[in-house]
Formats: sequence, structure tokens, C-alpha cells
Amino acid sequence: MGPTLAIRVYKFGGTSVRDAIRVMGVVQLIAQARQPLIIVTSAPAGITDLLQGITDHATAQSAVTNLADRFLALVSEVVAPSHQRQLSALVGRQLEKVRAPESDADRAKLMSLGESLMAPILAASLQHRGIRAVALDARELICTDGAYLGGRVVFDVTTKRIQAAVERALAHHGVMVVGGFIAGNAAGETTTLGRNGSDYTASIVGAAVEADEVWIWTDVDGIYTADPRHHAAATLIPEISFRESAEAAYFGAKVVHPFTMWPLLDSQTSLRIKNTLRPDQPGTLICHEPERRGSQLIVSTVDPVVVVTVGGYGLVGVPGVAAKVFGSIAAAGVNVLMISQSSSEHNISFVVHERESESAVSAVNMDLAGWISDEHRVDRISVIKDAAIVTVVGEDMRGRVGIAGQIFSALGEVGVNVMVIAQGSSEYSISIVVKSADVRLATDAILNAKGTGS
Ligand code: ADP
Ligand code: ASP
Ligand code: MG
Repeated sequence: MGPTLAIRVYKFGGTSVRDAIRVMGVVQLIAQARQPLIIVTSAPAGITDLLQGITDHATAQSAVTNLADRFLALVSEVVAPSHQRQLSALVGRQLEKVRAPESDADRAKLMSLGESLMAPILAASLQHRGIRAVALDARELICTDGAYLGGRVVFDVTTKRIQAAVERALAHHGVMVVGGFIAGNAAGETTTLGRNGSDYTASIVGAAVEADEVWIWTDVDGIYTADPRHHAAATLIPEISFRESAEAAYFGAKVVHPFTMWPLLDSQTSLRIKNTLRPDQPGTLICHEPERRGSQLIVSTVDPVVVVTVGGYGLVGVPGVAAKVFGSIAAAGVNVLMISQSSSEHNISFVVHERESESAVSAVNMDLAGWISDEHRVDRISVIKDAAIVTVVGEDMRGRVGIAGQIFSALGEVGVNVMVIAQGSSEYSISIVVKSADVRLATDAILNAKGTGS
């Protein structure tokens, strides 16, 4: 497939397709857009949370009622009367399957329901508007291996499948609709790309078809210097690099999923974040070499986290301590967000999501048991709860002398205590750990600090 096709990809997030009014707004945007176009849709806001909350018979029953209400209301309002019976029957058939999951395979099937219903409903509402649209099944396009939930994408298979399906669909349709977030494994079972993964679907598809741009439509004007819902001082960033946005996303700027940038790193495709409710605004362009990137720093947060510290005089100069600690965390399948070691080597601290902290601490306790009893090489494994990571990201930070000083002075002035510090060796980011209760104060202090540029 050649780049001359200049396919564009639009991804609509959950808030953009929340209800019939929003879906009609999306249909309007698509009607005005250039074709050929691939639409990646999320489930309506709240649906995946609802599905994830199903743990027993009772939650399954109330979810079915809720799902039926929302999807049938959508079908009755956005789809042509002649299509309504067929789509309502599809909703009914899918909802029959809702029950408490017993395995990750069941969980993936359950979690996929929102997107797998939304894609055909959106395609039908586009057809109702006279647009030649077709829904494609994401499970037959995006191939993963490994875990059922958040598996690894098998890019060569995925790319071939997408190219073939799009080429076929283009013969008769100008718009193709794909459910985000869901995928399938080699055995044909349903899998997912992990929570918030629809952005990732959009860039996987965009890379496969060599799209000129992938537009992520959401509920804010683009990437800001901090979450604009919580920080009035946050300002919009017109252009940003792939690396910088990936770093900010990894450290909590949820406006775009951190994996979204990967598939596009070696491509000519750029990404744009746009506001569904303010489509005339230019949004944020994510590209290889931003021309209009100012020097503002982005402040993002991961909250709540737990800091685990392994300490003891017996650790000084003993090779293999870090390997032992991180080996046991890795074996427990826990993701380490941040690491800091005191230069005296008396202690190593690492930070994990609160939800994974119990597994992390018990793994370390078990694996270091010998070292704790053995001449007290390790004399403490301590845990700090109710903590948060605040990360300051900025490509421009590299070599900007004094920036760390300005950040820490700003925090000192508002009385925020910094518990752990780590700077990426690329000098793209500085991460600090503070009490959860101090996150807002810390973020505002950094945003308002001299030299952070916002
Ligand atoms: P969608 O449903 O469209 O995927 P998300 O809720 O996943 O939307 O992402 C959009 C939200 O990201 C915004 O409403 C905003 O609150 C949040 N957000 C967090 N950090 C940032 C940031 N730095 N810039 C913009 N939005 C941010
Ligand atoms: N619906 C999925 C979720 O809520 C995927 C997404 O919206 O990106 O996680
Ligand atoms: Mg999102």
C-alpha cells in the first residue's frame, strides 16, 4: 500500500461518544472530514469501568441493565429505523454473554464488549447520514501474544492484516470504523491492549496504512503543561516531540496513552490531539521535530504510589544488591516506576503503583529473608504509603543550568517535602515523590515557578 493514499485516522475517546448527542457531533465531524478515513472508537465513557467492575452475579446483573439502557438508547437515536432491529438484536446477543469472569480470557472478552458494540453502532449512524462506512472487527486486525489483558502487539502480522482489510474495504467504502482497545491472539481469542488502549490502536492502524496524520479526539484542546482540569495555570502546548509526549504520558498525563507514540517513531505520520467540542482549535501536534515548542515544562503525576526502601549497612559495596531486589520484583510481575539509590549504598528505594505494592513488598521480603538474618546485611524494608510521583518533563531541560534548583526552591517555598528524587540520565525529566496530599500544591508551585516557562 503506497503512501499516496494519504489515509487519515481519527480516534474518538469515551467522552466523545458518551451519548447520542456526542455521537451525532462525531458523525458531523466525520461528515466534514477528508476521505479515506479510518475511525477508531472507544466504548462510551464509563462502560469499560462498568465491565471491569463485574465480579459476581449481582454486579453482572446490574451491568446488563445499565449496558442495555445505554446501548439501546444510542441505537434508537443515532441509527436509521431500518437498521435498529438488527443492532438491538446484536446488543441483546452480546449482553447475554455478560457474567462474572473466571479467567483472564473471560475478562478480555467481557472488557471488549463496549468497543465491539460501539464500532457497528457508529458505522450504522454514519450510514444513516449517507456516508459509505463499514465496521471492521479489531480482533481480526490487531494480533497480540502473551497476556490476554495488555498483550504484546505482533506488529508484522498486524500490519499485513490491516493493510489487506483496508485495501478490501476501500473498494466500496470511504470510512472504516474499528473498535479501539481490543485485539485477538493467534488462536482467535479476544485480547485487549490494556486500559486506555484505544489511542494505541489508532497509532498501530495509522502506522500500518502510512497515514499522514492520526488525530486523537478527546475532551480537552490538546496537551497542556499539567492536567487542565485540576490546574488553572496550565497552558496549551501547540507542538511537542514524540519522546517528550511519551515521557509525560508514561508519568501520568493520561490525555494520550504512553504506547501511542511507539508505532509512529520510524514513520512520517504525525499525531494531533484535538477537542471534539472545539474542533476549530488547532490542538497539539506531536511530531519528530517540533518547530513551535516553547520552553514550558510539563508536570504530570502518578498517584497513589508506594515507596519501598531496602536499607542496611551490610549493603555497602556488596555487588548484586540491586539485581537481587529488582529480580524479585520482576519475578512478581510488578512494574517499577522509579528507582533511587543513596550514594553511600546504604539504601535502595523504588516506587510502585499502590495496587502492586503488596506483591512487591512480599516478594522482596521473601527473597531477601536470607540477607536479613545473615549478619543484618539488610536491616530494614520500609514502606511509605499515600505517596505520589510528580514528574517534570521537558526536552528543553537538558543542559538548562539551574532548572532543578528552581523546581526545588518552588517546592520549598510552599512547604512541600520531597521524599525521593530521580532524574532520567537523558535529562528529559525529573521525578520526585511527595505525599499524595501535596500533589496539587507541588504541581501549581512548579507551574508558577520562574524558569518553568508556563
Ligand atoms: P478520552 O476518553 O478521550 O480517551 P481521557 O480521559 O483518557 O480521554 O484523556 C483526557 C483527559 O486527560 C483530560 O480530560 C484531562 O483531564 C487529562 N489530562 C491529564 N494530563 C493532561 C495534560 N497534561 N494535558 C491535557 N489533558 C490532560
Ligand atoms: N474503553 C477502554 C478503557 O476505558 C479503552 C479506551 O477508552 O481507550 O480503558
Ligand atoms: Mg484516553
